[in-house]
Amino acid sequence: MTADWLLRAPCRGLDGFTPSEDDWETAGDLKRLCGPQLPTCGPCPFRAVCIATVKPAQALFDGIAGGRLWCNGTAIAALDDVFEDELTEPKLRASCGTEAGAKDHRRHGERVCPSCAQAEREASARRKEARAKQPQQLQLDFAAT
Ligand code: SF4
Ligand SMILES: [Zn+2]
Repeated sequence: MTADWLLRAPCRGLDGFTPSEDDWETAGDLKRLCGPQLPTCGPCPFRAVCIATVKPAQALFDGIAGGRLWCNGTAIAALDDVFEDELTEPKLRASCGTEAGAKDHRRHGERVCPSCAQAEREASARRKEARAKQPQQLQLDFAAT
């Protein structure tokens, strides 16, 4: 069943918002194909719900949603009056094997996975090493003056 807001959206019944993959290769192709349709989103009151529904970043969406033109989930063009808070899509989680990934595990009440734990250990070792180097440099600076 089509959502009620979609039936009232300015793009209702219009083509060219989600081009078939056979029709384009590059972001430039996508801009040429979809760019002319982008102003349709201008007066649309459903931009936030459109983005929340399509989830362009998560879905690696190609096409127009919420006043933006997306290519592989990244906005490559947008109307002038789009607002950051229309991007209601939940933030993607940081990938595993990174310090940010470890933080995300904790935020979600999960155990930190081995590759995130390893990334954290390495980052903390790097910081420790950098700190250890700092006083020496200061001393050298003093000696030079
Ligand atoms: S924001 Fe654009 S694509 Fe989304 S419903 Fe409105 S007109 Fe359609
Ligand atoms: Zn992880």
